Amino acid sequence: MKYFSLNHNAKDVSFLEAVVSGLAPDRGLYFPKEIPVLDQAFIYNLRQYSDHEIAFQVIQPFVGEDIPKEQLEKIVKDTLNFDFPIVKITENVAALELFQGPTLAFKDVGARFMARCLSHANTVKERGKITVLVATSGDTGGAVADGFYKVNGIDVVILYPKGKVSDIQERQLTTLGENITALEVDGTFDDCQEMVKSAFIDIELIQKIALTSANSINIARWLAQMFYYFIAYKNRPNPDKKLVISVPSGNFGNLCAGLIARQMGLPIDHFIASTNVNNTVPEYLESGEYAPKKSIQTISNAMDVGDPSNFIRIQKIFNNDFFKLKKTLSGFSYSDKQTEKAIKEIFDQKGYIADPHGAIGYLGLKAFVESQEDPTSYQGIFLETAHPIKFANSVEKILNTQIQMPERLKGVLQKEKLSRPIDTYQELKSFLLTR
Ligand SMILES: *Cc1c(COP(=O)(O)O)cnc(C)c1O
Repeated sequence: MKYFSLNHNAKDVSFLEAVVSGLAPDRGLYFPKEIPVLDQAFIYNLRQYSDHEIAFQVIQPFVGEDIPKEQLEKIVKDTLNFDFPIVKITENVAALELFQGPTLAFKDVGARFMARCLSHANTVKERGKITVLVATSGDTGGAVADGFYKVNGIDVVILYPKGKVSDIQERQLTTLGENITALEVDGTFDDCQEMVKSAFIDIELIQKIALTSANSINIARWLAQMFYYFIAYKNRPNPDKKLVISVPSGNFGNLCAGLIARQMGLPIDHFIASTNVNNTVPEYLESGEYAPKKSIQTISNAMDVGDPSNFIRIQKIFNNDFFKLKKTLSGFSYSDKQTEKAIKEIFDQKGYIADPHGAIGYLGLKAFVESQEDPTSYQGIFLETAHPIKFANSVEKILNTQIQMPERLKGVLQKEKLSRPIDTYQELKSFLLTR
């Protein structure tokens, strides 16, 4: 499989080349030359395959010759070493829990897959040290830090917005040390992302160090997120109903992976882009005009993105045809107040504790299904993108109850925060050059 730049001003590259470079030299995002379609019999018989077998079949055509079969099988197996349970909330609404991984957010899947692909790339061709540069609005940092921790030949530098991530999130990305460095930026997530993008086109910098990105702009992180849409389809309740999936969205990598899965032949009837007040995409779906904004801080902070990077890929999947896109995708956005109410509603219905992001997914799902002529013909699934403990401050207050601390989190809370403050791109650059 070859990948081209969506800015159309760079040469095509193979899977591993795209993974190693992150962003194309013309600053465009890489996109596959074609989207493979899976054998219908395979999808029809999905229940006969293990999660690892499914993931291998799904990703193999995107990897092509770049990683031999045995290695890719092992990478997939190491990536998916946890479950993706579906929890029924009402007769037609269920949560897909994507937070059973080591850092309690869905980003573990993409980060683990990418770390292993990059490490493979380093063994087949001596590239010297690779520096992974990543901006985080909250959960990416922890997942990437964990996924790449102590991986040979790879240094990770994480930029996060000061005071805008939760305490647990901050500890997950600042306490590991070793090959992981956290930079605390006096600004927003968009500022962090802008600095990362600037680094990738800084000729002086990229001539001196091998840089790659572990944001969902990197195809390895982005595409691996398809895995759990297939697993969800396999395990869906009410298989005779039309499946609609609501994706709490920020940078839109997760939703974009779901849409690719559908393009490969997975029968998902409809998708919902559920956002907080950072509603650039729902507004676009209303008006047809894409107007990026400055990001606004909310209690669902991992979605505080005003100009989502991956939206351009979503448009490409539909050949930039607005009406085609609208047929498959609806958008809804919600305030913090509505989010809080939803967390309470889900808890009252089922005793289930949703996190603020999942709660927004729930709201979008409900709004869509209720607007349909026959709501009972749908099975809705919203993605529970993070464990509620990561947002304990707000969730415990809303529900007036305590969330049980998962074992795997206890260690990180005792460790000391290690981070360096930075304000400008120049500071980032000199840090990268003088380490
Ligand atoms: C990153 C994140 C999101 C947004 O995902 P995108 O792929 O950026 O749209 C939603 N919820 C949680 C908990 C996240 O960490």
